[in-house]
Amino acid sequence: MSDLSDLYQQVILDHNRRPRNRGKLPTANRVAHGDNPTCGDQCNVYLRVEGDRIAEISFDGSGCAISQASASLMTTQLKGKTAAEAGKLYEEFHHIVTTGEEPAEISDLGAFAGVHTFPARIKCATLGWHAALNALKGDPAPATTESHTD
Ligand code: ZN
Repeated sequence: MSDLSDLYQQVILDHNRRPRNRGKLPTANRVAHGDNPTCGDQCNVYLRVEGDRIAEISFDGSGCAISQASASLMTTQLKGKTAAEAGKLYEEFHHIVTTGEEPAEISDLGAFAGVHTFPARIKCATLGWHAALNALKGDPAPATTESHTD
C-alpha cells in the first residue's frame, strides 16, 4: 500500500504546484464563494452551465495546501458532468475524506483518504466542492463550512 500512498501524495503535491483550471472564468454563468474560517481558506468557483451539464469550470482563492489541491482536483473531476453526477462524485469524495476508505477503483479522489485522520482538515478538503455544488444550484449565498456539520 505504501506505493499507492506515495502515488496519492504525488497527486496532492502536483495539484499544488500546477493547479488546474485556476483563475476567473470569463464565460461563467454561475459563481459561488466558499469560506472556511477555521483554517482561513477562501475559494471561488466559476461554472459555465449548459443545460444540466458543467461545460466549463474554474476556481481561484487562497488557503492551505489541502484546500487548494482539493479545489484543483475537484475542477478536473466535475468538468463535463451533470448536476446529478456532480452530486454523486461529491458523496464519494465526502465518504473518502470522512472514513479514509479508498475508492474501489483507483481514482485521484483517493489521494485525500489520509485527510480523515485530521478531522479539522476535512473542511479544507470539501470547501471547493461545497462552493461548486452551491454554484450548480444557483445558490447565491456564500458557502461557509460553518453551516455544515462536516
Ligand atoms: Zn485549510
